[in-house]
Amino acid sequence: MTTVAAYAAPAAKAPLERTTIERRTVGEFDVLIDIKFAGICHSDIHQAREGWGKAIFPMVPGHEIAGVVAEVGPGVTRFAVGDRVGVGCMVDSCRECANCKAGLEQYCDQRPVWTYNGVGKDGEPTYGGYSQKIVVDENFVVRIPDGLSLDVAAPLLCAGITTYSPLRHWNTGPGKKVAVVGFGGLGHMGVKIAHALGAEVTVLSQSLRKKDDGLKLGADHYYATSDPATFEQLAGTFDLILNTVSAPIDFAAFLSLLRTDGAMVNVGVPEEPVEILLSSVMGNRRTLSSSSIGGIRETQEMLDFCAGHGLGAEIELIRADQINEAYERVLASDVRYRFVIDTSTI
Ligand code: NAP
Ligand code: ZN
Ligand code: ZN
Repeated sequence: MTTVAAYAAPAAKAPLERTTIERRTVGEFDVLIDIKFAGICHSDIHQAREGWGKAIFPMVPGHEIAGVVAEVGPGVTRFAVGDRVGVGCMVDSCRECANCKAGLEQYCDQRPVWTYNGVGKDGEPTYGGYSQKIVVDENFVVRIPDGLSLDVAAPLLCAGITTYSPLRHWNTGPGKKVAVVGFGGLGHMGVKIAHALGAEVTVLSQSLRKKDDGLKLGADHYYATSDPATFEQLAGTFDLILNTVSAPIDFAAFLSLLRTDGAMVNVGVPEEPVEILLSSVMGNRRTLSSSSIGGIRETQEMLDFCAGHGLGAEIELIRADQINEAYERVLASDVRYRFVIDTSTI
């Protein structure tokens, strides 16, 4: 076991504070990673505040991890000391069910082992990236291509894959009109990736406050959802709507923006149930769906795609003692566009 410095929420809704945790001894197929940067995902806040239901405390959040391999177990074949690597939302899965075999570990029949707020196969709670080191089985580690700096790559491990996967699944490309709802951590990556895939991209944000950034980062159009004229103007427009909002929205209003056979895919995970009249889905044979992160192979594919297109996240680098303040700013939609912790400050 190795003792490692970390930032943890001691209890639900309590501020995060510096602490230490134990990392397991490097096993045969394990990789020890010196974590350099960890992104702050809104999911960290939902969980640290028990917004999604009962959670495990103390909690060390963080599933957007970028670092450098410091040690490998004797059976490790894919990584060597010094490699630049990432870890996302999962650190293990059953590896045997049809979903795992298909590279869809996020939909593992036994549920994946989440990077934090989970229980590992050893029965111990898992602790995430707001820490200086992590030990992960090599099958759940991905390679960060040379062209990507580790700080801007970290958020790709969740925000990147969570938007890339549904954009690819719903065939985003030239000739397709895609709307991204919410221009935060996931939203800004959704815009960059959809643009790089060749789609015509529209941002639907609460206000026009971030319009200049949106257009600069790849959006063709940018509308305020606080303006009712937006919904009149864009009725029946989109092939795909990617909803990244962390709170419930007016589904009927957004569904009315889909063209025939269009799909609205929800990646935001509000803490409250949402209300939808099915008649608002039926018109124009619409699809209402959702998507959870992406598998390990697809995460590597996304990193290679982002490196190939020069796409990293737009980040605000913070010290560990700014985490609690950063949480408040994320909750106030005041983030441009991902807070990333410099883990050397833990
Ligand atoms: P974020 O950075 O806070 O972005 C969410 C954006 O939604 C905000 O920037 C804001 O954009 C908009 N928004 C916030 N509150 C709103 C409200 N009440 N009404 C309308 N719009 C609102 O969060 P994130 O890290 O991108 O995560 C977004 C959601 O996705 C969270 O619920 C998170 O848990 C979830 N998530 C899901 C997965 C998955 O696998 N499905 C993976 C990661 C995260 P504007 O200012 O532009 O309006
Ligand atoms: Zn996340
Ligand atoms: Zn499985």
